[in-house]
Formats: sequence, C-alpha cells, structure tokens
Amino acid sequence: MTTRRDFLSLGAVAAAGLTAGPNASAETTESVKSMKPPARPVIVTRVTGDQTVQEAYQMLLDGADTLDAAHHICLGRENDPRDHSVGLGGLPNEDGIVELDSCCMHGPSRRAGSVGGVRNIRNVCQLARKVYEHTSHVMMVGEGAEKFAVDLGFQRENLLTEDARKMWMLWKESNSQMDWWGPGMADPAWKDPYAGKPAPKPTIDLHGLSSLTPLNPGAVPRHPGEGWQPIIAARTQKLLAMAADLQIAPELRLAAVEQILWPTTGTIHVSALNTKGEISGATTTSGLAWKLSGRLGDSPIIGAGCYTDQDVGSAGATGSGEENIKVAGAHTIVELMRQGYTPKEAGLETLRRIVRNYDGDMNRIRYLDMEYYIVRRDGTYAGVSLWTTGPTGRPRQFVVHDGTCRVEPCACLLPGAAVEWPPF
Ligand code: ASP
Repeated sequence: MTTRRDFLSLGAVAAAGLTAGPNASAETTESVKSMKPPARPVIVTRVTGDQTVQEAYQMLLDGADTLDAAHHICLGRENDPRDHSVGLGGLPNEDGIVELDSCCMHGPSRRAGSVGGVRNIRNVCQLARKVYEHTSHVMMVGEGAEKFAVDLGFQRENLLTEDARKMWMLWKESNSQMDWWGPGMADPAWKDPYAGKPAPKPTIDLHGLSSLTPLNPGAVPRHPGEGWQPIIAARTQKLLAMAADLQIAPELRLAAVEQILWPTTGTIHVSALNTKGEISGATTTSGLAWKLSGRLGDSPIIGAGCYTDQDVGSAGATGSGEENIKVAGAHTIVELMRQGYTPKEAGLETLRRIVRNYDGDMNRIRYLDMEYYIVRRDGTYAGVSLWTTGPTGRPRQFVVHDGTCRVEPCACLLPGAAVEWPPF
C-alpha cells in the first residue's frame, strides 16, 4: 500500500522532473530547449483600438519588465469606460454589479497571482500581481480581495457606468428569460432553442472525432447575414424603442442593442516576450455579461485564462470561460508546445478538445466561442479561434507586435460564425 509519505515523495520526484518512461513526454523537448529568444520582443493580444500596444513595445525595447509591459495594455482597457468587457464600464452581473477577474504569471520569477469576483476596484490586473508580491497566496476572491486592495491603497469606486447600467436595464427588461441559469449546454436535459430540421454534415477535419452531429444551418442564425435579417430587424427595432425609453443616448442605442442581442464576450489577454527570453502573461475581464453573481470564468484561473512558462512560452484566452476551464486551455497549449507542437497546432488541438467535450455536437458547439493568443519562447506566435467570425460576422483577428504592430487573422478550427449564448 502506498503511504501518504510515499505518495508525497513520489510527487516530489515527479515535480522535480526526475521520472522517466511514460512521463518522459512531460519534459521539454530538445528542439524547444535549443530555441533562442527572438532578436526583437514580441507581444500578442486582442485588438485594443488604442496606442498601448505600441507603448508597451517601446517599454520592452527600453528594458522594462515583461509583466509591466503586458499590464500597460491591460490597464488601457480597464481604464476605458467605453470598453464594456473589462474594468471600469464592464457589463455587470445579473444583479447589476460589476465583478472583475484577473490573473497573471511572471515568467522570470515563476510567480503567479489571481483575483476573482472583485467589486469596486477597477485595476484588477495590478491587484492580481499584488497577491504574489505581498502575500504567500496565489488567488484571492470576493470581499477579501476587495479589502486587500483597499488596504494596499487601491481606490474603491462604482464601476457601473451610466451607459452600462442602462444596458443592464435593457437586458433585464428584454431578455430576462434568456439567462445563464440551467440547464446549461453540458446538461443532458438541455434543449436547443433552435432545434430543427436535419442538415448536411459539416466538412471539418477534427482529427479523431469520428462523427459530428449534423447542424441545421436554417434553424439558427450563423450570423445576421444568413436569413435572419427580418427577425433581427424586428427585434432591433423593439429594443431601440426600449433603449429610447430608458433614455440611452441616441448615439449609444445601437451599440446597447447589440450588447443585448450578442452580449459582450471580451476580456483582454496579453503575452509579452523580450529578447532575453523573459515572458509574462496577463488576463483581465469583467467576465460574461449578465452572469450569475459570484460566477468565476476562466480569466482568473491560472492554467485556463493564462499560463506562462518561459522555458516554453505563454498563452491566454478570451471566450467561453466554462469550456476553457474544462480543457485547462492556456496550460494545455503551453504543454503541447513543450512537446514540440507549434503555437498554431497547440492552439487548434486545444480547441479540438473543446469540440470533443461535446462529442462534436454542432448544435451545441455553435454557441461556443473561444480564442487563444500564443507566443513561444523563440518568438513564434499564433492567434487561434474556434470559429472564423464572431456572431456579428466580424472576422476573428488578433494583434501582434514584433517590431511592426499589425492585426492578423486568427487560424480557425471551424468555418462559420459563433452564435452567442444565451440566444435571443
Ligand atoms: N472568458 C471570459 C469569461 O468567461 C469572457 C470572455 O472572454 O468573453 O469570463
């Protein structure tokens, strides 16, 4: 019988990487070990619409810490009240309260920090770092994390902006039956609100998935351009009238209606690598719009929303947090790169695992959305996405800066558009 003591010492051996045989694949492959850091720093992130990526890049050129550079980009989004997926102005939970999640990993010191469900504190990316800088913990949540922030000098403030409050009211009035309460899609009792007629089998290479449950393209909007215009137009008109009634400013009404039809999934992840081979990653979000109070997604989970091991690389995520937690997405990607996968292959393989978790049932998978941002220690990078476009038909893209700052299309696993859940 294995005693607790034997078990612990076996764990220590494994943790020290001293095991052989079946565990050998956990070792960093020689090809990855022999990689040299890039000649220029590399940053990968989502499209931010501001100058912070260029500024962060300059910080790296000037010798700044990789996590400081990553956080510079996160802070830009947290401080922008027009970004409804993060920080100040983030869309609230179903009770109208903004709850923020964030985590980070500092490659050079191999430290990690995380906060979840934090109210009233806008810069949670910095708060996550303070957890490892000032405590011997890694993760703090809720009231305790808020108190910790205030003790450290962070200002308490109301994060619910007037615009976000009115959007929440619009959601409450219009969509109250389409919420995040169960049964969820992983529940056998779940019923597809758009269940319909049989449909052709999609031709998708899922490497090892024997069959996909056929999707009925006529039963659900792939995106607003495909046969659903009349329904969406009617719904939009109704919501616009309600938005006017709620005194949402005319120029914001259409954007507010879009938040109801396709609730924001946003989040920002940044991975930053310098020429010394130091890498850090950070993720920050207000999570799913209209989520249940206390719900944590993947963004504060080290290994799901963000994972960095500078022997190998760094990855982070935006999208369906629940699905990403179940495949430990960011960690899976880094481990696959450790075994020799390229960033793109590692990202696509992790997306396949999400698809596999639903046995390839496209009637459920169409409601999922997932993007990963990935950089390997040699500077090779990728942005990968479950679908080619988001629900509004916008192509999935990411930003890379490796001397030139540019937007690139994500590599996509499935052709078509995600359909946001809850549906309208
Ligand atoms: N991943 C985030 C969460 O589940 C949301 C998002 O990225 O859109 O909280």
